[in-house]
Amino acid sequence: MYEYFNMYKCFNYFYTSTMNNKYFDYIICGGGASGILLLKALRQDNYFENQTILIVDKEIKSGNDRTWCYWEKPIGEFDSILSQKWDRAQFSSDTHTSEFDLNPFQYKMLRSGIIYDKFHKQIKNFKKTKFLLAEIKDIISKGTHTEVITSSGSFKSKRVFSSLFDLKPLLNQNKYPVLKQHFLGWFIKTKKPVFDPKKIIFMDFNIPQENETRFIYLLPQNSHEALVEYTLFSKNLLRIEEYENGIKSYLESKGIVDFIIEEKEKGSIPMTCFPFYKLNTPTLLHIGTAGGWTKPSTGFTFMNTRRKIDSLLSFLKTKKPLHVFSFKNRFLFYDLLFIDVLTKYNAQGSNLFARMFQKNHPVDVLRFIDEKSSFLKELKIFISFSFKQQVWFLNAIRRRIF
Ligand SMILES: Cc1cc2nc3c(=O)[nH]c(=O)nc-3n(C[C@H](O)[C@H](O)[C@H](O)COP(=O)(O)OP(=O)(O)OC[C@H]3O[C@@H](n4cnc5c(N)ncnc54)[C@H](O)[C@@H]3O)c2cc1C
Repeated sequence: MYEYFNMYKCFNYFYTSTMNNKYFDYIICGGGASGILLLKALRQDNYFENQTILIVDKEIKSGNDRTWCYWEKPIGEFDSILSQKWDRAQFSSDTHTSEFDLNPFQYKMLRSGIIYDKFHKQIKNFKKTKFLLAEIKDIISKGTHTEVITSSGSFKSKRVFSSLFDLKPLLNQNKYPVLKQHFLGWFIKTKKPVFDPKKIIFMDFNIPQENETRFIYLLPQNSHEALVEYTLFSKNLLRIEEYENGIKSYLESKGIVDFIIEEKEKGSIPMTCFPFYKLNTPTLLHIGTAGGWTKPSTGFTFMNTRRKIDSLLSFLKTKKPLHVFSFKNRFLFYDLLFIDVLTKYNAQGSNLFARMFQKNHPVDVLRFIDEKSSFLKELKIFISFSFKQQVWFLNAIRRRIF
């Protein structure tokens, strides 16, 4: 860590002495997933080569503070640094269990530490780029530009991107329900070989639901090691011991009692159709989770972010004001209905997902979540719900339209 500090001090000094230290062509607030993916994309595109970029974070991120998983076709941008990938998956609930081939996709696991390390090495070689280690105190849009006020001074730009997530605007409204995908996971190592390393457990709802939507998500590294997460799609967070007891009971129910916990991770991701874009201004765009780039119905964010950055780069070349950048489509309406229904019938999440996986090819469900399905497949997904469930959705449509 000390070495990093020195590196950044030098780095900051070098650049502040060669360019105006108050104005940048682009300022990226937050050097987490979306911030570093955006910076990397900008620096790799020749169109932006003469533009100055400031990226600000209150910490130099390192280590595995999160695991990013997603599905895509076998050859992908991060393949060389994946920690694991799988071709098969399993879905389980009390009404339906199936094991399926993910073809043409693979489920991929990327640990954040390797991305952070790679980024910190790369940024040294990026020209006209400054990393500032400082706390952002405020971001204020002032007509022609946005000002970023940090613990190390204020900076201005006509193009500011922020991944700083603020829960307040979501809590100060009730038009768009806010669920959370919240979870705690253990990386465990067992004495005996107990896991099938070829398949992930995508969702296992065979745990007490406690009137909510609760499931186990399990990613085996090999037959002895796995990440086991106790996950909820619900309104309120649990106490740490409740997640941990949930993992313990699940493992016990599978006869897994002899293991050590090697690492832990926990998180809470907003699941909402809150119109995050309304927080944008002509000179400020929210990105990542703060920009509503999380898929509301599932919490998946990483690959969504990666894909949205491609659209953002094309958009920036049009030189239009930032608040015009938009990605509204019919899937946002489906997500809105799904979140409305899941909020009202939170104890029914298991049955809703079971019907989707039972009545459709699971790969079609993944394509639907990825927003790459055809309208006919979407209709098929709708009619796969039971009559009672369809009425819930129709009522949700009625409430949203009238
Ligand atoms: C444990 C965990 C596991 C996840 N797993 C998955 C997954 O498997 N698949 C998936 O698709 N998504 C997953 N997500 C969701 C999502 O992909 C991540 O949360 C992702 O990191 C979001 O990127 P971001 O840039 O929006 O936010 P972040 O990565 O959180 O970046 C925000 C940055 O802003 C900085 N910051 C905040 N406040 C300030 C301030 N005042 N001043 C300066 N800097 C500040 C923070 O230090 C941070 O670096 C997971 C999330 C968590 C927490």
